[in-house]
Amino acid sequence: MTERLKDDPVTILRRAFPGMDPPDLQELANVALFQSYPDDTVLCREGAMEDNTLYVVVNGQVEVSKQFDKETEGVLHVLGPGDFFGEMALVLGSARTATVKARGPIRVLEIHQEDFQRVLERSAPLAIRLVLRVTDRLRDADEKRISELRSKNIELAQAYSVLERLDKNKSDFIGVAGHELRTPLTVITGYANMLKSNPLLEESEQTLELADGIISGINRMHGIVNSLLDIAKIDSQTLDVRQVPVSIAILIKNVHARFEEDLEERDLTFETVNLSSLPFVMGSSDLLFKAFFHLIANAIKYTPDGGRITVSGQVVTGDHGKEFVEVVVADTGIGIDLEDHELIFEKFYQTGELALHSSGVTKFKGGGPGLGLAIAKGAVVAHDGEIWVESKGHDEQQLPGSRFYVRLPLEPH
Ligand code: ADP
Repeated sequence: MTERLKDDPVTILRRAFPGMDPPDLQELANVALFQSYPDDTVLCREGAMEDNTLYVVVNGQVEVSKQFDKETEGVLHVLGPGDFFGEMALVLGSARTATVKARGPIRVLEIHQEDFQRVLERSAPLAIRLVLRVTDRLRDADEKRISELRSKNIELAQAYSVLERLDKNKSDFIGVAGHELRTPLTVITGYANMLKSNPLLEESEQTLELADGIISGINRMHGIVNSLLDIAKIDSQTLDVRQVPVSIAILIKNVHARFEEDLEERDLTFETVNLSSLPFVMGSSDLLFKAFFHLIANAIKYTPDGGRITVSGQVVTGDHGKEFVEVVVADTGIGIDLEDHELIFEKFYQTGELALHSSGVTKFKGGGPGLGLAIAKGAVVAHDGEIWVESKGHDEQQLPGSRFYVRLPLEPH
């Protein structure tokens, strides 16, 4: 129900600013102008500097709203006869802090900034009223914001728990699929090897080639199944981190040996810097092998023919004087966009077009299930270590390259 006030400016102003002395009220009334506006008129626009008018509602209602972020605009309050608005910009000398819009046709009293300030300088009750109103409004806006944030937080927590459940289902499925696939794969491997060593086949070069093709396909599937099982272990935090001294130099040498043919085939230079002077780290050579295996496989995969892969190491001191062995796997490849620097360590996350991922594991931009970096991260984190990437971005012409950092603590964890 909107209430109609008697159209006498002094009555209206007294209601808006109680306690003001009659002469001050009269002076304010003398400079106040009645104005009428149709429904939906915007009287103050959030962020606007231009109009510095104070409004007192005579009849009708206005709604005061605020843009909280790009998408959400919230109505802070609805004002009716005897309420005033527009005082924040006057008092603070700043832009409008909210938008005020007519809800239906309205009539207001308008007082311009200079006139208002003249009276304000003299009238303590007016100043106090304004200060109270400004603080009230600030508190209202805060409370509204806090309650909105609270409900957003609840929504986020709910969404997060659903995602966690889904991720757990995914991890369980990965584990089951890995185990289920391993048994028939082992059987097929056995048969394929028997087939290859069958003397009857030795006579036909073409059939031998077919058997080799089957075996290399199976090996690749083995690799994927093992990766699935590794991920399942990482997700269920059942990785076995044995505490034995591990030489990074020997580890990298072993990984290099696994890729020697591929490096040669792709005309890639592989070099190591300063690895032999590194101290041993305590951990599992099996898991660390996997971490560097995937990092170096990726360096090969995402570097065009003729490029260079460098693995370097040094001892660094982190926070609280803690010492780490830091190993960097650097390539001269296609690089990684900034927005992907964290996401690539998530399982199954791949950048670019999946259609490209169809050929061999060490072919340029060759295939892969998107698990390599998740495994590398799982292995490093299980050692209380850190892994991250630095790259200026993805560019297949300029080839900015990528640098993967692995930090492993020197003291046993
Ligand atoms: P994938 O099986 O696709 O290689 P990874 O988890 O090993 O899965 O890597 C995830 C994604 O990170 C890759 O699809 C690729 O886009 C990007 N990536 C990883 N290593 C490199 C690198 N050295 N250079 C450029 N991109 C890389």
